Amino acid sequence: MQRSCFTIDLGAIRRNAETLLRAARSAELWAVVKAEGYGHGAVDTSRAALAGGATALCVATLPEALHLRASLRDARIIVMCPVSEREVGEARAARLELVAADGRVPEGVKVHLKLDTGMGRWGLSELPSPSREVVGVMSHLACAESDEPFTRAQIERFAAATAGLGKITRHLANTAATLRYPEARFDAVRCGIGLYGISPFGGDPADNGLEPALRWESYLALVKRLEPGQSTGYCRRFVAAEPTWIGIVPVGYADGFRRDMTGTEVLVAGERRRVVGTVSMDALAVELGRELPVGTPVTLVGDGIRIEEHARVADTIGYEIATGLNTRSGRARRVTVDG
Ligand SMILES: *Cc1c(COP(=O)(O)O)cnc(C)c1O
Repeated sequence: MQRSCFTIDLGAIRRNAETLLRAARSAELWAVVKAEGYGHGAVDTSRAALAGGATALCVATLPEALHLRASLRDARIIVMCPVSEREVGEARAARLELVAADGRVPEGVKVHLKLDTGMGRWGLSELPSPSREVVGVMSHLACAESDEPFTRAQIERFAAATAGLGKITRHLANTAATLRYPEARFDAVRCGIGLYGISPFGGDPADNGLEPALRWESYLALVKRLEPGQSTGYCRRFVAAEPTWIGIVPVGYADGFRRDMTGTEVLVAGERRRVVGTVSMDALAVELGRELPVGTPVTLVGDGIRIEEHARVADTIGYEIATGLNTRSGRARRVTVDG
């Protein structure tokens, strides 16, 4: 019995890549695998995405790119956040591509110019005339999942600023834009969240033909009956009003089950049950409805329990839940399957 077991379905990631590639039509699909592939494992995810038709990998930082390069000798790898002067040399040696996003344009390495079309963060306010090393021009959308007029304005600004650039690859769309705005596709799309089968819109990923790739399982480590007036967990946040069976699951916020996910549902022996009381570092409590044996399987994510639901309870987005899962520290078992 594993206290915390993550199973990553590489087949699902490959199929999600195929789905996004179809949505991208004639554009290339570039797989965004920053933050350990949104918690799913960067190298495994990259291999699956490449098998599904992706033609490049995008990460945020140089160390992430070097980590990928060690296993993926030939892949095209793009570092999206600015790097230091010292890192430019390392990037060159590792055949990485960089992004000019803070005013400096790195030299001696393939580079993408990033234009700020409304994100108001990284990005140049105007495009310099591209040097020979410039292979791409990009921008990033601020609210493709929520604000249509602003997104259309960003797309138009990008189209106008990058018209007539010849062979330079133009890329703008994230997952949400790839799915919703055909005119945002340009020459390549950069998809992250959709690859993992998580909806950028917070709804059901199946609406866009995407399948969740991650399962998270544990078990009931302890089952006890609270009498009226008895409580479970820190600060007595849950006090039983009547005799109440609760189960203790040996997973907590140190594993990525956040404290603000109290009230969300998990599956206990295949039935939806509510998480009650304060989530602690190494444990959480579930209201059971009846007595169940110790060892009963608990599904925290999977079989219809979705990251998007947990995100809604925690008043955040699926991205933050996924990247916060502690899949790598040795606290959890991590298994890959090809389903
Ligand atoms: C993270 C990121 C993406 C991927 O966005 P998703 O919404 O996960 O598809 C694309 N482009 C840039 C610049 C990013 O930082």
